[in-house]
Amino acid sequence: MRVLSILHDSVVDGEGLRTVVFFSGCPHQCEGCHNPQSWNMMNGTEMSVAEVAAELLSNPLTDVTLSGGEPFMQAKEVKELTRLLRQSGRHIWVYTGYTVEQLLERGTADQQELLRCVDVLVDGPFVAERRCPGLPFRGSDNQRIWRMEEGIPVGLISL
Ligand code: SF4
Repeated sequence: MRVLSILHDSVVDGEGLRTVVFFSGCPHQCEGCHNPQSWNMMNGTEMSVAEVAAELLSNPLTDVTLSGGEPFMQAKEVKELTRLLRQSGRHIWVYTGYTVEQLLERGTADQQELLRCVDVLVDGPFVAERRCPGLPFRGSDNQRIWRMEEGIPVGLISL
């Protein structure tokens, strides 16, 4: 899998103390993107699922956030990663530029399987006209924070 970077001890990429992996590759190309170097799939480093899992699990006290880039671009590998993280009891937030409706209605089998391994999904592209600097864990107010159960959004988390 292509990984742009891994950040330890973040408090801005989801609730609590989290280790964050930023995946390479993003098809959305939002105007005003905070991380445009993530767009190119060839940026970053090639790592195995086991290597990424070991790094993310290296601190026993942190939960995990998967971000990018677009994690659902590498859904086959990322779903394997989430299985390892779940086996270790980690709570998983995932950021995506797709809406949850798009993933449920038109997502590939791998993307829908990945949805089933997510505890919290922050969805939707960054929209510059709706930028909202005071909003926790989101860049613009069209983005939603979903509590997920078995791949289904069961409610919005208002933060
Ligand atoms: S989805 Fe995220 S990483 Fe991708 S272009 Fe939009 S803001 Fe940037």
